[in-house]
Amino acid sequence: MSKLRRIDVKAGFQCNNRCRFCVQGDKRSQFPDKTTVEVKALLTAGRRDADELVLTGGEITIRDDLPELVRHARDLGFRVIQLQTNGRMLSHRPFVERLQAAGVTEFGPAIHGPTAAIHDELTRSPGSFRQTVKGVRQVKRLGLPVIVNSVIVQANVPHLPELARLLVALEVDQFQLAFVHALGSAAESFATIVPRLSEVGPQVTRALAIGLRAGVRCMTEAIPLCFLPGMEELAAEAIIPRTKIFDADQVIDDYTEFRLQEGKAKGPMCPQCRYNAECEGPWREYPEHFGWDEFEPVTRRDDG
Ligand code: SF4
Repeated sequence: MSKLRRIDVKAGFQCNNRCRFCVQGDKRSQFPDKTTVEVKALLTAGRRDADELVLTGGEITIRDDLPELVRHARDLGFRVIQLQTNGRMLSHRPFVERLQAAGVTEFGPAIHGPTAAIHDELTRSPGSFRQTVKGVRQVKRLGLPVIVNSVIVQANVPHLPELARLLVALEVDQFQLAFVHALGSAAESFATIVPRLSEVGPQVTRALAIGLRAGVRCMTEAIPLCFLPGMEELAAEAIIPRTKIFDADQVIDDYTEFRLQEGKAKGPMCPQCRYNAECEGPWREYPEHFGWDEFEPVTRRDDG
């Protein structure tokens, strides 16, 4: 077994949502979904490198062959089989039961706001909030772990603490607040989608405090440590498993290396920062648009 622990298989890009910030952009019209045979072949090949699997898209739950793919992964011996999903289909109990029987070990639905008004406006899919929340309850009732991902964009920044309260009330096992990556649709709508990190930091810190107080495992992604005073240890980058990604037409052998070499950037002040070694910096598109003025290197232990 290599140092990799996880593979992430993107089976296709069709989706029943149309999120305003979708990092996959218009891949759904550019790339046909992979066939059952093709996905099974990727799972078989990937199992040589890893024993954790994330199956995703696009929207993985709208594939008719999903239970068959999950069974194949289980038979290959994947220890973790996580479905990353917008969560809408999880509102159908028999569907979730079939996936559980096939071998799914955890679900990763996405909730992007504490209300239908905010979430549905972002997904551009009326009714999606109600379905995803019902789906989370469904999965919890069946006793499987729920790991919620929420993408931080301009529209939900003021509501992150309220979102955290909702996730605590839903008794999710973990939630992750991920700063939007300005690719795909988010890049096209950069001016109305991407918030300023200096405004995000305080709201994320409040939201994390709510999760921590309730005993819920919570973390951030793609937020540099200088915007997380007192919460630096909740940055997910330190614990994200080494992952190989099977994307539309390319394979990223090690996503951690990809983030460090190509995805993220460091600024001129970072060498003075005590977190320079452990912090990945922001997605590079952020300083390309906004520059580095907001970034204050942390120079003493008590700066945070
Ligand atoms: S100043 Fe640079 S190294 Fe320090 S936390 Fe901010 S982005 Fe990371």
